[in-house]
Amino acid sequence: MKGDHMRNKRYLVLAAAALAVGALVLAAVLTRQPLEEASNIKFLMDTVVEIRVTGRNAKAAIDAAFAEMERVEKVFSRHFEDSIVARINQQAGQWVDVTDEVIALLQKALEYSELSDGAFDVTVGRLIDLWGFGSGSNRVPSHTEIVQALTTVGYRGVEIDLSKKRVRIPSGTVLDLGGIAKGYAVDQGRKVLEAKGIKSGMIYAGGDITTIGAKADGSAWRVGVQHPRQSTELIAIIEMKNKTIVTSGDYERFFMDNGTRYHHILDPRTGYPASDVISVTIYGGQATDADALSTTVFVLGAERGKAFIESLPGYEALIVDQSGNVWVSSGLEGKVSLL
Ligand code: ADP
Ligand code: MG
Repeated sequence: MKGDHMRNKRYLVLAAAALAVGALVLAAVLTRQPLEEASNIKFLMDTVVEIRVTGRNAKAAIDAAFAEMERVEKVFSRHFEDSIVARINQQAGQWVDVTDEVIALLQKALEYSELSDGAFDVTVGRLIDLWGFGSGSNRVPSHTEIVQALTTVGYRGVEIDLSKKRVRIPSGTVLDLGGIAKGYAVDQGRKVLEAKGIKSGMIYAGGDITTIGAKADGSAWRVGVQHPRQSTELIAIIEMKNKTIVTSGDYERFFMDNGTRYHHILDPRTGYPASDVISVTIYGGQATDADALSTTVFVLGAERGKAFIESLPGYEALIVDQSGNVWVSSGLEGKVSLL
């Protein structure tokens, strides 16, 4: 009898607990907002940026991500008169106080310069201007002008004073983070979306595409790689979850002169556009790295670029050479369909 009584009591306690849990779950379900799908487009960093997400408060998350990407652009674009990078350029030859964020991105840029023996070099600014890719009025410079501008190029001249948090470039040098800052902005945008609880989404910024998780239905994102010569066609589709691809192509910003194509990815050793390949797509985790790497591999060219990317863990490449041959690095096989 006593045992029965105890058991009954225990059942009562259990039943009460179950009811309480049930009520909590019900309350949570009722206050939970539905998953919404949202997207928005803005013109940022000289390109069309689109963000698409599925989640709670999707619209607010997108607004916050855009705000962060705008902030990044205002720090790193040398074309914003009061950006930190513009200030470093205006005061070339002198130390300029910067933020931890600027130091971190500069360090990353210099790392890729070291790794690539100078193929990637953010001190190409004066050359970029000489070819008119900074301003818009393109022309083929004279050889003398190129030789002169080349004297201002050299990543080893960038000094970072970690203890005083300041940066100095040689007088005459112009920093241009165009080869890495867009990727960084995309990473920052993604971080904001993730912090807002988004589990499925993507940011598309010109050739830079990052994905959060899988598509809302759980399947992988299928991202197209543009055909370098037929703008409405794709050369490949890459499947990805939670990954990034960044493409550098000679078709993005270029001009023709006497039948020759001149584009915006310059070989810092010669001062002329790198001409061995026409498109490089990098696949990996971080857009910042993928962006720097797409420019780096483009400048290295097919042979050196292939060896370089195969030796680098975490990043894969799809390279299209001058004759249209497509090469895919070993880690990308199975994820890419060539069209
Ligand atoms: P996009 O900006 O069109 O997506 P990239 O990521 O390849 O293409 O970056 C090209 C930009 O990088 C140029 O516009 C210029 O600002 C800068 N740049 C050009 N050549 C180099 C180089 N050798 N190293 C680093 N940056 C470069
Ligand atoms: Mg790049």
